[in-house]
Amino acid sequence: MPLSAVRKIACGSGRIVAASKLNRHGIGFAGEVQREVGAVSCDCSRSLSDFRCLRTAPLKSLFTLSILLCGLIATTSAQAGEVAITFDDLPLFGGRFPAREEQTVTTRLLSGFRRHGWQVTGFVNEIQLEGAARDRRIGLLRQWLDAGMNLGNHGYSHLSLTRTPLEAYIMDVARGGLVTGELLSERGRSERWFRHPYLETGPTLDVRTRFERWLDEHGYRVAPVSMENSDWEFAEPYDDAVQRHDARQARQIRKAYLAYTGHAVRWYRDAAINLLGREPAFILLLHASRLNAACLDGLARILSSNRLTPVTLDQAITDPAYAIADRYAGPDGDEWVTRWSMALEKEIPGDALPDVPDEIAALDANLEAADPDPEAPPAPTPSP
Ligand SMILES: [Zn+2]
Repeated sequence: MPLSAVRKIACGSGRIVAASKLNRHGIGFAGEVQREVGAVSCDCSRSLSDFRCLRTAPLKSLFTLSILLCGLIATTSAQAGEVAITFDDLPLFGGRFPAREEQTVTTRLLSGFRRHGWQVTGFVNEIQLEGAARDRRIGLLRQWLDAGMNLGNHGYSHLSLTRTPLEAYIMDVARGGLVTGELLSERGRSERWFRHPYLETGPTLDVRTRFERWLDEHGYRVAPVSMENSDWEFAEPYDDAVQRHDARQARQIRKAYLAYTGHAVRWYRDAAINLLGREPAFILLLHASRLNAACLDGLARILSSNRLTPVTLDQAITDPAYAIADRYAGPDGDEWVTRWSMALEKEIPGDALPDVPDEIAALDANLEAADPDPEAPPAPTPSP
């Protein structure tokens, strides 16, 4: 696959759609937790009828269960106000800028991480290492490790688990750790983390279970996402503006991006507190883009003003919230706040999360139309 084919690799593209659905239709209630603990007998699947079914279940039992779960979680964590920062689609998100800028973007990212004390985990798509730029791009990954960052597997070619047969998907993931595993091995380390492209964890419980068994057998642990800011949707219009030397539009996009990020961070904190009764250690998804390289200080200011202290992914994952049973199986690529909402049967305030500004969405849609990603999830159907 040519490098241009991985230009549209966006990990969290299903999340806000899912959150909106939860709010618009009042769903977001799965019966898995109840079935597991035997509190309620319900054969619901994820649909509007599920919601109705659960609403006729013994609400007192449901309420008591939620309180017990939240209370248990609240009393066992001392990790409020923390965030693990992760970057996907390494070595570089996008492919529209000249090769000479690859080093500039990487240097700006890594120096920003050091300046703000971030110990980031980056997730690699090794398809980006193919071609004439192979040595140079592997060199960029070495720089991440030399700067004290960690690397994980994001699939070789960023496939959709929803739309790829499991055997082919597993082959792609196995291929995706060859170079990164070697780089870590040179430093006496091994690759431990895997992040699902598009956050798609499996269209059926059988696929999900079989793939997670494969991950376990090969020493991988899933890297959840519990905070994101749709940065991928801003990143490509930004690249386009920079390429056209449109400094005014580039500045507008940076400003809109940081404003949106401020809203998104606040929304995730509120939603998590609403669900868990406290703030978990968040795991933030960003992409290794030119936009984030340019906005790193602004992003750090937003995290700091929200009193979120950077921690490693290894530290964040010890938060008990990530042990909440997540049995979702389906086509959506939901982040973990939505998954907690389903598991705990509590709604999240989807309407409070603002949409990406129309002008940004339109710019991104135009670029997508000109160079579509064959793996990206279908665009959502507008609500009536
Ligand atoms: Zn990705």
